[in-house]
Amino acid sequence: MATARLPQWPPKANEAQLAYLSQTATDYALSHSILYRPPVPAGSAGPALDSAIHAPLALFPSPFPRSLYAASQALQPLYNALYARISTDDALLTRVIGGSVIQVDDFQKALWDIYTAVRKEGAVQKLHLGLFRSDYLLHEDPEQGLQIKQVELNTISSSFGALCTRVADMHRYLAQTTGFCNVSPHLTNAANIPRNEALDTLVDGLSAAHTAYVVSHKPEGTAPVVLFVVQDGERNVFDQRLIEYGLSERGIKVQRATFDQLSGNGAVLEGPERRLLVSLPGQTPSQEISVVYFRAGYSPADYPGAAQWATRLLLERSLAIKCPTVALQLAGAKKVQQVLCEPNLLESLLGSSGDNNTAIQQLRASFMDMYPLDSSELGKKGLALAQTTPEDFVMKPQREGGGNNIYRADIPPALAAMDARDAAKGATAGAGTETGAGADSAVKEREGYILMRLIRPPAGTGNHLIRAGLGSATPGESAILAPDVISELGAFGAVLFREGQSGPGGVDIVHEKSGGHLLRTKARESDEGGVAVGYSVIDSPVLV
Ligand code: ADP
Ligand code: MG
Ligand code: MG
Repeated sequence: MATARLPQWPPKANEAQLAYLSQTATDYALSHSILYRPPVPAGSAGPALDSAIHAPLALFPSPFPRSLYAASQALQPLYNALYARISTDDALLTRVIGGSVIQVDDFQKALWDIYTAVRKEGAVQKLHLGLFRSDYLLHEDPEQGLQIKQVELNTISSSFGALCTRVADMHRYLAQTTGFCNVSPHLTNAANIPRNEALDTLVDGLSAAHTAYVVSHKPEGTAPVVLFVVQDGERNVFDQRLIEYGLSERGIKVQRATFDQLSGNGAVLEGPERRLLVSLPGQTPSQEISVVYFRAGYSPADYPGAAQWATRLLLERSLAIKCPTVALQLAGAKKVQQVLCEPNLLESLLGSSGDNNTAIQQLRASFMDMYPLDSSELGKKGLALAQTTPEDFVMKPQREGGGNNIYRADIPPALAAMDARDAAKGATAGAGTETGAGADSAVKEREGYILMRLIRPPAGTGNHLIRAGLGSATPGESAILAPDVISELGAFGAVLFREGQSGPGGVDIVHEKSGGHLLRTKARESDEGGVAVGYSVIDSPVLV
């Protein structure tokens, strides 16, 4: 890959310029729905529903090598096809998730039980909708120079598609109207800040699924609607609403509901076709649902009890098209990402002829080393690396949403604590059993985790991060200089596909679209990267 260099960043700007630019940015954000509900006050059940603050923002777009941005966009169609293929490969999912992972991870087990129950019964809906976001960091390789390496690929609740579209518009507007006060030659031409199609990619994907449902299942009476399954007290609600309004412009109605609102009689299945009917207080009774779009359901906290799991099962069994299906959610597990790094796995999944070879090379070049933590040869190597060079690694459980990983020096003690818990369990299980099956033969807690080599983004880039909620009446006061930042680039993709058909790998792709990006920027000290969880700000790439 091309050796690229980043300019010193942020460009030097004086107080007056910073105040002018940050006020212009803030007003644009407030005017264009780059918004969050305000933080939840202590002792309150949820955020205020009648006011909003702007989302955390980067004042300047952050420099990103043009060729590597293009590489991230070129990879997305390959990832769309790959994950469609994985989610319909029962043998692969059974090996990777249905083996040891479900024995040590109750959350994956509960998802797995839904997956197997619906397979056994026979799915009435063969279409799956994936709205993906593949995340990358720049990696400074001593030999090959700057590259992009994949952090993870999200298959459920990939967020910020709407807000990042608006943030790219904001940075382009600042370039057009203020020229960013001429503080950098990179910032005077809006053409260096790529247009962002993320919102369109998401709306087009949902719209394609809705249309496919209507065409195939010809619902009688009123038109079916798209169901957004959401979290109670969600602060990132405007990112979801903008997708809803995009669908509304195409004449497609949306209903929003939490798992709790859908349990009881909120959602029911009708007839042998299992059409999904939803009725919610204050809304037209009993709407037929075409597509279920999950912006909840990715974390154990979304399922406090059996009622929420029963609802997830009911939705999965229904005729509605799920975004994602449980199979797609499972395919997004970090464990799957790790297995894809194993030698020959991509070849056996995609076939290794002609075009496929090029695709495989491109995909593999985006992988960072990953290891299992089991008793296989690769697992032994992983365990040895975790003990000898923990500073080069992050250890990840099968979780989403940020804040779950174990970094560097924390890895060896975390592994030791897991082994101690296994030994204690083994001692209890072994006592009194005839076989005396102890800790050695049982699946170990650490097998629910993977080990990943840390990606090393280049130094020398900073930015001014603008956070709302300081209540400041002085322009620019909230634009705080972060001298050393890391930017994570996400690429969006949508794929609607039918399982069990004639296409390559048994998948028929009905709709596929890639396009759009999210740049999230955070101070280097913070290991985690979520915007919603408060670690990072929404940014845009300026191509250099
Ligand atoms: P989640 O699904 O919770 O978002 P991620 O795999 O994206 O989990 O990890 C969370 C954050 O941790 C990322 O946004 C990134 O900042 C950091 N991170 C994860 N993997 C790596 C890695 N291999 N190298 C450097 N940072 C990483
Ligand atoms: Mg994730
Ligand atoms: Mg992530």
